[in-house]
Amino acid sequence: MNICENLEKIRQTVPERVTLVAVSKTKPIEDLQQAYDAGQRVFGENHALEMRDKHQALPTDTQWHFIGHLQTNKIKYIISFVNLIHSVDSLKLLKEINKEAAKHNRVVDCLLQFHIATEETKFGLDYDEARQLLESEEYKNMENVNIVGVMGMATNTDNMALVRSEFRSLKAIFDKLKSEFFAQKQDFAQISMGMSHDYPIAIEEGSTMVRVGSAIFGARNYAKV
Ligand SMILES: *Cc1c(COP(=O)(O)O)cnc(C)c1O
Repeated sequence: MNICENLEKIRQTVPERVTLVAVSKTKPIEDLQQAYDAGQRVFGENHALEMRDKHQALPTDTQWHFIGHLQTNKIKYIISFVNLIHSVDSLKLLKEINKEAAKHNRVVDCLLQFHIATEETKFGLDYDEARQLLESEEYKNMENVNIVGVMGMATNTDNMALVRSEFRSLKAIFDKLKSEFFAQKQDFAQISMGMSHDYPIAIEEGSTMVRVGSAIFGARNYAKV
């Protein structure tokens, strides 16, 4: 299977209302270009410098989503072009994104990342932390960030009933945030959930954005990079 055929197959399973983010981390420019030539425009990366280099190499209508843990000292490498940051997990990070975005006169779209997996992973807010963030004066004064939804990762397991319940919990968080904080905000509408092995379930549970890597580009070989 090549990238073009993989994309074609996946597109048939992703409804039009759901954005397909092609997760191209660790993959060479040629692979991204192949996906681009097959019509893919939205790419997801999780390292700032790698994303900057790929941004410089791909056509200018490519859209770049940052999906990994973002260190505050790396924001500057991507802030001038990034289209969506999926992984905001603290007020401190949001503050820095706001500050850097202001330097470029941009308002940058962001998602709040939630910890929904039962397994211990390092990153992601819980509801109370998100509430504190959204109720803070600091957040209310930010003019260069725009929160447009939520993101989460399910437990890495074959237990699809567990995965489904975790996706369902993210949808519930989204609904609650929407009614408590964003009722008047039309563009608070994104639920980023679902990866190669679980995206069909995520779509059934309300995902608006799936982040698919290996099913498009093949397995990643971390030893090579
Ligand atoms: C790598 C990654 C993906 C894609 O994973 P696949 O299993 O290759 O589809 C999705 N989301 C995040 C946050 C990732 O880091």
